[in-house]
Amino acid sequence: MRGVSVTVVDHPLAGHLLTQLRDQDTAPPVFRTLAKRLALALALEAIRDLPTTEVEVQGPLERAKGRTLGDLVAVPILRAGLGMLEAVTELFPEVAVGYIGLERDEASLQPQSYYRKLPQVVGRHVLVLDPMLATGGSGSAATAAVREGGPASIRFVCVVSAPEGIAKMEADHPDVPIFTAAVDRQLNEHGYILPGLGDFGDRLFGTE
Ligand code: URA
Repeated sequence: MRGVSVTVVDHPLAGHLLTQLRDQDTAPPVFRTLAKRLALALALEAIRDLPTTEVEVQGPLERAKGRTLGDLVAVPILRAGLGMLEAVTELFPEVAVGYIGLERDEASLQPQSYYRKLPQVVGRHVLVLDPMLATGGSGSAATAAVREGGPASIRFVCVVSAPEGIAKMEADHPDVPIFTAAVDRQLNEHGYILPGLGDFGDRLFGTE
């Protein structure tokens, strides 16, 4: 049995969007739109069990009981995570946003940190956004950085994950649930996910 919770968001719309993202003929403008839509579905699932507080509001006819969400923080891992950020800021305009810049050393495949700007996360619920959970190096390093701040909870949201990345997160952060649209087969020798969708950042920003 797995020690880390992995939720594969298998909504038909998520599958439909992911298939278009995988298609090599999907150009950056469309890729960006699809990525945002899929991130929306993933984020909704990721916050399904977020604690809420009971409140009462005065409606036009009478008072009504309702619920409000706890404090949320989104932390996209630069740069590909930016493709998922707008979905979260649109869903939750009050969200605080932090950034972690990690790039992969292509020789060692280890993450190198080049930027970190995090808001106060104490007592808040954090969504770490990184579309491709490949080796898990960046995801684990970013999660560790967020954890230092003492958040109430951390959730890891990605588009595609590899078994290797899940295993890394399970080893380093077994308490951090993962939300993904797919668990793919494996990594290739360059650390890319197979079948995957190629380099998410390049496809998002039109770089090579
Ligand atoms: N990062 C990507 O953009 N794609 C992969 O397949 C792996 C890491």
